[in-house]
Amino acid sequence: MEGKVLEIEDLTVNFDGFKALNNLNFSMDTGELRVIIGPNGAGKTTFLDVITGKVQPTEGRVIFKGRNLRRTPEYQIARMGIGRKFQTPRVYLNLTVRENLDLICNKKKNVFSTLFAGSVPEEKRNVLSLLETIGLEAKADLQAAFLAHGEKQRLEIGMLVAQSPDLLLVDEPVAGLTDEETENVGSLLLALAASHSIIVIEHDMEFVRQIARKVTVLHQGSVLCEGNMDEVQNDPRVIEVYLGQQEEE
Ligand code: ADP
Ligand code: MG
Repeated sequence: MEGKVLEIEDLTVNFDGFKALNNLNFSMDTGELRVIIGPNGAGKTTFLDVITGKVQPTEGRVIFKGRNLRRTPEYQIARMGIGRKFQTPRVYLNLTVRENLDLICNKKKNVFSTLFAGSVPEEKRNVLSLLETIGLEAKADLQAAFLAHGEKQRLEIGMLVAQSPDLLLVDEPVAGLTDEETENVGSLLLALAASHSIIVIEHDMEFVRQIARKVTVLHQGSVLCEGNMDEVQNDPRVIEVYLGQQEEE
């Protein structure tokens, strides 16, 4: 894995005169795990919306694996290898954990591979290794409806990974989770980081500390600063931005 997976140049998103993103510059290496933090309204979700093609930028460029995503439709960007995990889990509640994963693994198969019986064991292995990765082997035959919230999050992350994305975008994966579930999701993301490029957006500072390598702080639609957790936490600009928010609340 070499080079940049994502490069963003002078990105501005203007919503009727309000700049949700304002001349934002960002880049990350292939294979990197990057955490993005920032106060409410900083533009974090809009940032992901632009990368996935849901929102078109007013100005600037998004370059994914060296290709400009300008005017590329959402479904095509997903096909190019960007997978997004939304805040609320989107799994099939009436299916078991295994069936949810089967569904995705089957979708990937083409007409030719279904003609060969040999593809079946391989697919089973895929599902088994995914179950192991997300730590849900013991619950493989349980309906997803009966999973704890954190387990649902892990299942959905597993379903994303099954699609072999080159870049995984994860928006607030531990909102509303117990401490134990938060730690499990953190361990899963760290394990996946060994072989994926991942952007995690998060509010929960405990969690950020658990997984963070390089952190980018967004504020008012721009990058305020970047660095490791210690550098970012001790940056007077970051302290000011977060303290300002606490006073408002
Ligand atoms: P964050 O995820 O960091 O909390 P968002 O990206 O959701 O921030 O929002 C950034 C700012 O843009 C907020 O002030 C929000 O109200 C505004 N915003 C987001 N989406 C829209 C939209 N579709 N139209 C107008 N304003 C929007
Ligand atoms: Mg948000």
